[in-house]
Amino acid sequence: MIYLDHNATTPLAPTALEAMLPYLRERYGNPSSPYRFGNEARGAVERARSRIAECIGCKPVEIIFCASGTEADNLALRGVAHALEARGRHIVTTAIEHPAVLHTCKALEREGFRLTYLPVSDDGAVEPGALAASLCPDTIMVSAMHANNETGVLQPIEEIAAIARRRGVLLHTDAVQSVGKVPFRVDDLGADLIAFSGHKLYGPKGIGVLYARRGTQLTSVITGGGHELGLRAGTENVAAIIGLAEAVCLAFEEQEAQAVRLGALRDRFERRVCAAIRRIKINGEGTPRVPSTSSLSVQGVDGESIVLGLDVRGICVSTGSACSTGEDEPSHVLRAMGRPAQEARGAIRLSLGKETREADMDTTVQVLTETVERLRSISSDRG
Ligand code: PLP
Repeated sequence: MIYLDHNATTPLAPTALEAMLPYLRERYGNPSSPYRFGNEARGAVERARSRIAECIGCKPVEIIFCASGTEADNLALRGVAHALEARGRHIVTTAIEHPAVLHTCKALEREGFRLTYLPVSDDGAVEPGALAASLCPDTIMVSAMHANNETGVLQPIEEIAAIARRRGVLLHTDAVQSVGKVPFRVDDLGADLIAFSGHKLYGPKGIGVLYARRGTQLTSVITGGGHELGLRAGTENVAAIIGLAEAVCLAFEEQEAQAVRLGALRDRFERRVCAAIRRIKINGEGTPRVPSTSSLSVQGVDGESIVLGLDVRGICVSTGSACSTGEDEPSHVLRAMGRPAQEARGAIRLSLGKETREADMDTTVQVLTETVERLRSISSDRG
């Protein structure tokens, strides 16, 4: 198998697994229990929190462990909306967010919040000027993702943060697809809230983090015990937290070397694929992207058929669009970039990872070329 869907999920790093095992076996204490066995688990959770905080450049109390990236996004959006609703009910986000943000924004609209969805240019990036124009006296928050999960395009968060700060508006960033892939320090980014997820960076599934800058007003979404400073009730997933810390430290250690290696592999792949296949477009080309993502629009065939065709040959890629969750809609991200529906339907996303080798990418160029030729030969659009 050639696995090229690391934006969907990554394999667990062996060191993360090793670090987790004792907490799944003999060290099963509840971190909230008052006796030593519980205190040991609490100590491990707090050490993990400190390690993650050190990597991203924040204080341990600014880290809130959640059950996923999705939950971290929910806590940021709903938590701020409900904490600040007396001040205003307007929230600004972008048209290209992940459903974890977009669908939460839609839910807030149904509760009476007013949402503005910022457009992106044809290269997939939000124009900071559009943000400045959208802010109103009752705007309480901006939510703009760092790296897009379909195209890998990096959004100008530093500029967005500067505008939000000048206008006294909080900024949340979904950084699920950027943490571990690009240099990352919370103060450089400038966001007040940042969400990320374990399973996108070689950590376990079912664990996420919300960074909330100290003093950020936030209402808890899940009620129960007073865990995570009262912001996220529920007994901590100790093993997952330990595995996440291990994975985050490793990802930060290896980030630079992997970025150089994967960026070169991705760029070489794109050059070769453009030479081999007619009427193909690289989405987000020429704009800053995470080095491991390649989004291709292939005219005259739909992405779903390419994904299935590659699967038969042992290659895992995705359409990157909602089709993967059973909805037959073309990608909202590519539509927001101004691509016609037909072109958006022909998109596939390849996302490289630590185990990806040059030979894997060469095989993929060849199999993709053959697959597209075959699909075009049986489609009505032979271009
Ligand atoms: N945000 C982005 C940009 C994502 O790509 C994903 C996962 O695909 C999520 C949020 C959700 O993360 P999780 O799978 O941990 O809920």
